[in-house]
Amino acid sequence: MNCREAQALLGAYVDGELDLVRSLDAEAHVRECPACSAALERLHALHTAVSCHAPYYDAPPELHRKLAARLESKEQWPRVWWPALAAACLLAALVLWTRAPSGLRPASSAIERDVVAAHVRSLLATHLMDVPSSDRHTVKPWFAGKLDFAPEVQDLSAQGFTLAGGRLDYIDGRTVAALVYQRRLHTINVFTWPANRADTSPSVESLQGFHVVHWVRHGMEWWAVSDLAGDELAELARLL
Ligand SMILES: [Zn+2]
Repeated sequence: MNCREAQALLGAYVDGELDLVRSLDAEAHVRECPACSAALERLHALHTAVSCHAPYYDAPPELHRKLAARLESKEQWPRVWWPALAAACLLAALVLWTRAPSGLRPASSAIERDVVAAHVRSLLATHLMDVPSSDRHTVKPWFAGKLDFAPEVQDLSAQGFTLAGGRLDYIDGRTVAALVYQRRLHTINVFTWPANRADTSPSVESLQGFHVVHWVRHGMEWWAVSDLAGDELAELARLL
């Protein structure tokens, strides 16, 4: 990667929008290149300044309700009230720019983005595990006193999912348990925390080149994320 390529990616890098491979490429270049490193510093400073100081406006409840109703029915699109849509785009841009919690997006997709971001962060930051161990009798007690719930930790090495360890992470505004499994060369992050909704069966989605499986079981939220194939990740979801 040369400077021109690196600098074209830095904005997306700072916003956490690059896939893992391009993030790693960009980081490798920045480590070696003082000019791009300085450019990245400036972007970080700008990003922080905007996040801290840019004004943030909530949509009035009435506009919010109307837009939500419109967005729910795709067949309504041709009759969308354009000024409202323009206002929504502006608000969405502000919301995304300031990284404020967004009421315009459904909660699950915001969490899904959190989950993928946490996965990428864990791979980039050499902070994959606080407690590296394949022994669930080591991993499970490690969480005691660090969380207000006890995550279920299983060793699934017989089924091809090797427990590698655990750590704390931060998803959807709360501290959660992150369990790390390995399958062949793939790293899987499994996030869990108490749910406040009914059980759901595992559903597979993909986001930013990763597969994400989400389910609710026995009062616990579960999210698994990896570059592993979706059906293999769904198999892990059934086993957990
Ligand atoms: Zn450079």
